[in-house]
Amino acid sequence: MNSQNVQEPEYSIKLLLLGDLAVGKSSLIYRFIYDKFNPNEISTSELDLKTSDLIIDKKNVRVQLWDTVGQEKYKSITKNLIKRVQGIIIVYDITNKDSFKNIKTWAHLIEEEYGNKLPIIIVGNKIDLEENRKIKIEDAKAFCKNHKYKYVETSCKTGHNIKKSIAKICKIIIDSQNIRNDISFSLSTSNASYIKKKHCC
Ligand code: GDP
Ligand code: MG
Repeated sequence: MNSQNVQEPEYSIKLLLLGDLAVGKSSLIYRFIYDKFNPNEISTSELDLKTSDLIIDKKNVRVQLWDTVGQEKYKSITKNLIKRVQGIIIVYDITNKDSFKNIKTWAHLIEEEYGNKLPIIIVGNKIDLEENRKIKIEDAKAFCKNHKYKYVETSCKTGHNIKKSIAKICKIIIDSQNIRNDISFSLSTSNASYIKKKHCC
């Protein structure tokens, strides 16, 4: 048995994925956990919470990713989740202008709960569809710079920058020491586990 598999993590970080429907939130988690792409829409009830370990600056970091459905009717659930994480990944689809515009709405929801204290990274997803790009990279970067968000472009299809985007926000959180150690995990011996969340709606 590889003793690295049972090594206790030095940090435990909970992250929440926000963003419009179909931008690729569930796909991003799926790619991060399994390193695979599923071309169909992934049912979010099957993928609410996933855990995996990452090595950042030689430290073992346990990352817990919470998925959301990106719909207005789940706003109160989303607000509750925001209170329980150390960082947020807002995903938009570079081929969908509305999903970029709606970053502001998602960020507003976070600010209502937290002011501007919670680290946020913006992820422009689906860069494998470059020919259909509607948001120029310079515009996205300028917007993020203005709001002091980090920015990464990804493709869940190819896997480009997926680990990097998650490592980037984890590093910001570790560096800001915004770590809460009151998080309990349910982990299998593999590097990923599956926990089905109860739905109440
Ligand atoms: P969610 O509603 O934000 O969770 O979006 P999903 O992860 O369910 O993805 C919505 C659709 O976009 C699915 O058909 C995915 O296969 C597709 N998709 C997700 N990420 C990418 C990507 O990087 N490139 C391409 N071409 N399609 C993607
Ligand atoms: Mg989803």
